[in-house]
Amino acid sequence: MKNVRQSMALPLDPDSVKGFLDPEEGARLYELADLTASLGPCLEVGSYCGKSTLYLGAACRSHGQLVYAVDHHRGSEEHQKGEAYHDSTLYDSEAERMDTFPEFRRNVDRAGLTDTVVPIVAGTQLAGRHWQIPLGMVFIDGGHSEAAALADYRTWAPHLVPGGVLAIHDLFPDPQAGGQAPYHIYQLAAASGLFEPLETVGTLGALRRFDL
Ligand code: MG
Repeated sequence: MKNVRQSMALPLDPDSVKGFLDPEEGARLYELADLTASLGPCLEVGSYCGKSTLYLGAACRSHGQLVYAVDHHRGSEEHQKGEAYHDSTLYDSEAERMDTFPEFRRNVDRAGLTDTVVPIVAGTQLAGRHWQIPLGMVFIDGGHSEAAALADYRTWAPHLVPGGVLAIHDLFPDPQAGGQAPYHIYQLAAASGLFEPLETVGTLGALRRFDL
């Protein structure tokens, strides 16, 4: 798998895309998407400005596979005005809300991934209500409240095919280091009997759905 990371070709410099993904974690996403692209499309929750989408999209594109990019584009709790990760350039002052979709779309265009990335501008529960497409990979990087993380896990993990990979960002086993909701859903998945844990890279955990 190391070779995949070494030969990773990105159509756009990830440093030019706003976001909170470490390059090592990005390379890991690329590797996992490359590994699972033959099983089915990839779906990510919490695209923000498209940094993770760039890695997932580049890997999927090389296999002719798609990435569904689910985000309401109104920002998570920590992106709101007055919060720690607020970016005023992504604030729509007319609507008085965050709007990361224009920036996301611009980045997907710049990366030449418009034939690979299918944006779904909706929250998890709305997007997932009638979902029936089996997925090769699910990447959860949405809201960090317990309710949001649990909804993302419950909505999307059941759609993974055997052999498919569930990746979860922002795992902090030490409560002093960060919010616990992503780590809690990682633990739920690990305890479910449905998944085999894979290597964690930085704060990016991954589990593989057992073959039937
Ligand atoms: Mg994250």
